[in-house]
Amino acid sequence: MRLKFEDVTLTLKHPFRLHGGTKKSAQVLICEIEHDGITGVGEACPSKYYGETPESVKAVWNAIDFSVHRDPFLYEAIYNALREQFPRDTAARAGVDIALFDWLGKKMNVPLYRFFELDKSHIPASSFTIGFASTDELVRKIHEAEDFPILKIKLGTTNDRTIIETIRSVTDKPIRVDANEGWSREEALEKIKWLEDKNVQFVEQPLKKEDLDGHAWLKERVALPLFADESARAPEDIHKIHAAFDGVVVKIMKAGGIQAAIEAIRLARSYGLQTMLSCFLETSVAISAAAHISPLVDYADLDGHLLITDDPFEGLSLVDGRVMVSEEPGLGIRRKNRDDDYGA
Ligand code: MG
Repeated sequence: MRLKFEDVTLTLKHPFRLHGGTKKSAQVLICEIEHDGITGVGEACPSKYYGETPESVKAVWNAIDFSVHRDPFLYEAIYNALREQFPRDTAARAGVDIALFDWLGKKMNVPLYRFFELDKSHIPASSFTIGFASTDELVRKIHEAEDFPILKIKLGTTNDRTIIETIRSVTDKPIRVDANEGWSREEALEKIKWLEDKNVQFVEQPLKKEDLDGHAWLKERVALPLFADESARAPEDIHKIHAAFDGVVVKIMKAGGIQAAIEAIRLARSYGLQTMLSCFLETSVAISAAAHISPLVDYADLDGHLLITDDPFEGLSLVDGRVMVSEEPGLGIRRKNRDDDYGA
């Protein structure tokens, strides 16, 4: 098995205003695992929040000794070795994991959703994320999101009520709220109560990630379901946080790959929690990986590839607001420009 990789800079359609500044581009890394004449493609999207950078991903990938692994069918051994050697490098592990599964799907000539024995007619509708924006921008973005039946709104600002009122003056679509740890306990209680009759499906991460007592306190007092995102990174974190929440946001990059995300989803379900598969700003490689296993979850939030102008890959479609995978084997994606000297 051989691994090669490249840096890719993705340009955002709209600069994303979030806590702590404006984001105009995102750095991801695309990797290829080649073995036996077949190439599996993977992607790592390092998140500074979780302590990863493009440099740390490359350091992990350079440190992996693939010569000790005979072929991608020994996935389990490779996965366990990587988890032991690089416990915190979840995006780096995810890149390898995605490439291995793409290889396996291609080798067995099945799309990944079938490899995982799933029914793609159960892929849930995806939300479309709207970041902080002025009132005019907000209205424009809501119109741009017309193909999506659900909006995801970032709150945790001083004008949260204005944002929701603006949206409600334009559309009555269901909303998912993500506060990204932006509220205090009392503020969260007051704002979530106010949101209860605004057609909101649930609230993501209202309080600081370590404030599990606060989330449990809040859960007792509000009707809307509370979802853990930052509070639950690794699948095993779900053992610690399950009582304080009603649902969990699973991401392939924070879990450590497709297999780890499936583990997280199953564990969350075993605790009676609802589940959502979400993403970062990613190309169609990582989004496809999530879309293939999205029949396992209650909710999907897989819009990362639609928020960029220069996705180097294609293969996904949007069908009735659902991010739909193709029937090609593996991830079912390919380079837009086949003449590209890939990885050079
Ligand atoms: Mg979130």
